[in-house]
Amino acid sequence: MPPVRELTLVGFSLFSMGAKNLYLQTFGCQMNVYDSERICQLLAARNYRLVEDPSEADLIFLNTCSVRVKPEQKVYSALGRFQALKKKKPTLVIGIGGCLAQQEGGKFLQRFPYLDFVLGTKEFGRINEVLDDLEVLGKRGLAISLDGRIDPYASLPFPPSSSKATAFVSIMQGCDNFCSFCIVPYVRGREVSRPSRDILEEIRTLAAQRVKEVTLLGQNVNSYGNKTPGEIGFTGLLEAIQEIQGIERIRFTTSHPKDLSRALIDSFGRLSKLCEHIHLPLQSGSNRLLKRMNRGYSGEEYLERVDGLREACPEISVTSDVIVGFPGEEEADFQSTLDLVERVQFDDLFSFKYSDRPYTRAAEFHDKIPEDVSRRRLRELQALQRGITLKRNKLWEGKEVEVLVEGQSKANAEENMGRTRTNHIVNFPGKSDPHGTLVWLRIEKAFAHSLRGERRS
Ligand code: SAM
Ligand code: SF4
Repeated sequence: MPPVRELTLVGFSLFSMGAKNLYLQTFGCQMNVYDSERICQLLAARNYRLVEDPSEADLIFLNTCSVRVKPEQKVYSALGRFQALKKKKPTLVIGIGGCLAQQEGGKFLQRFPYLDFVLGTKEFGRINEVLDDLEVLGKRGLAISLDGRIDPYASLPFPPSSSKATAFVSIMQGCDNFCSFCIVPYVRGREVSRPSRDILEEIRTLAAQRVKEVTLLGQNVNSYGNKTPGEIGFTGLLEAIQEIQGIERIRFTTSHPKDLSRALIDSFGRLSKLCEHIHLPLQSGSNRLLKRMNRGYSGEEYLERVDGLREACPEISVTSDVIVGFPGEEEADFQSTLDLVERVQFDDLFSFKYSDRPYTRAAEFHDKIPEDVSRRRLRELQALQRGITLKRNKLWEGKEVEVLVEGQSKANAEENMGRTRTNHIVNFPGKSDPHGTLVWLRIEKAFAHSLRGERRS
């Protein structure tokens, strides 16, 4: 998955007199962004509108991540800042939700007396109930059950609403894989697939709102439906989405290499709307460490899958995640990772220093790697990948590509930004193409993080 990033959702359309202000900060992955969009919908019913400045807020909600220690620390420092705001404005309500909220539960309420409520990863649907209790009874809220709600989205009152050309769609929750470094199964619960009927209805609604591209979200989309008798599997779901009029592009994340089936590999060459990009987390190139990580594949098997993907779809871009400094990682293990990264030639790579997480098996391993060694390995891996990414990006120069316009370029407000089907960012001159338009561009120049295009004459 792309690196943990911090973002504030703004611009959710709202209306009317007496509106209250919501400041919503989202940490972490696309799944959290999706959940935050649902929170916005639920709070819209209570007449909240989004604001960019927390000092204007009546309600501050932090949707948190606990996959590594860094995003966790960001949440604690944000909470410190917001305490000062509450001192100035005692009616301010502060709530916290998501993975860190699930992990810490009631401890949050004890530790931060100014915090008004804590919502776990499967309890977002109860935000209005919790706010009612707070407003009417003055009761601080704690809702962190992981088991009660099979489909935490089933209770949402509205169809999804989007003014964008792209949308995330959650197709499953939780994970059963228990990779030894990962906290996700403990804070998001066991794997549960959403009924395909609901997913398809959500995508049809999005298509009617002129959404062109959907990204299906799950911790391991490859095992979608496997635990539900009679449910279509993941490739069946892709085939059904392929038939939805108005949807032009389908993406998904994340795929676990151990469950990447032949049928899914073949879908890339077969389904015209399925974009030519796969995010396939490797984690390590050392078979010894892959075993210790409980990943369920070897480096050789990983390579076979990538070769199969490139055979079925030669233009596919492949991105990945790697952890360095996993407990017990010796120089030879790290060298195996560098060798595999060199051999695969990823289009992009998200690399992280191992971080101890509560509940996980790896947290109990004694052979931890010193911080300076992990840091040096991360630098070395990133330097290798920078060169590979640039080399891979250069292969696009002179080619013609279809780009979905997503908005203004970050670097230059006079330019547009869009993405190719292979998920490369392209900046190009002109502001005339409305967001959501598909345009054909010629790639003039490749950089480390983006491409530059010109309209095809
Ligand atoms: N489900 C996805 C998969 O199977 O790869 C990944 C989900 S995880 C939220 C995103 C990425 O965070 C992982 O691929 C891994 O590289 C990284 N990650 C997870 N736990 C970590 C830890 N304890 N320390 C460092 N990185 C970690
Ligand atoms: Fe975490 Fe592994 Fe599940 Fe991914 S597959 S969410 S890394 S336990």
